[in-house]
Amino acid sequence: MSNCLLCDQTMKTRQTFSELIFFGKSQSGVCHDCLATFEKIAEQHCPHCFKSGEVGSCKDCHYWLSQGKSVSHTAIFQYNEAMADYFSRYKFQGDNILRKIFAEQVKKALEPYSDYTIVPIPLSQERLEERGFNQVTGILDAARIPYKEWLGKRDSQKQSSKSREERLATEQTFYLVDEKSLPEKILLVDDIYTTGATIQLATRLFMKTSQKEIKTFSLAR
Ligand SMILES: [Zn+2]
Ligand SMILES: [Zn+2]
Repeated sequence: MSNCLLCDQTMKTRQTFSELIFFGKSQSGVCHDCLATFEKIAEQHCPHCFKSGEVGSCKDCHYWLSQGKSVSHTAIFQYNEAMADYFSRYKFQGDNILRKIFAEQVKKALEPYSDYTIVPIPLSQERLEERGFNQVTGILDAARIPYKEWLGKRDSQKQSSKSREERLATEQTFYLVDEKSLPEKILLVDDIYTTGATIQLATRLFMKTSQKEIKTFSLAR
């Protein structure tokens, strides 16, 4: 017997059928009731960014495509209330053990990218010191996925305090830690994809040096 990492109720050792479907054979540490609150991206989603329920390009992708940018993003979960709660606990309350919950799904979702170099979206030094860990590398570590910390981030205003337009127009805050010998295929990994602004900024840095194949991934969209 063990307790659910999210709601603390005692869990049966045996997994239910739906837990097996949802999580595979791994021990996620989360009970059936909590699992049921997360929603995977629907079959019908934006072909560019995986936004759930969209027929064709979503509003955000329309914007990026009109700017001559490409979007090649994959995500696993919808950013619903349960996911918001999860990130609130994991990121802002520093509940570090929660990095493990989605490790198996992330590992599985990244299998098709075995020939890509995984580059996590970084935190600024200030934010890193405040939080004590990077939530993206935390999940990658839990999933035992190797990655390269090639991006750095300068301190800036918190994204959540800005409007959608402000976020879309954000100035470059990322920088390349080391510009020499970048591989052709790079997969940028973030925790949440909101408008795509963050990932577009990071992508732009890599595109500047040469025509790289850059795809992006997030746990939630
Ligand atoms: Zn639970
Ligand atoms: Zn889209």
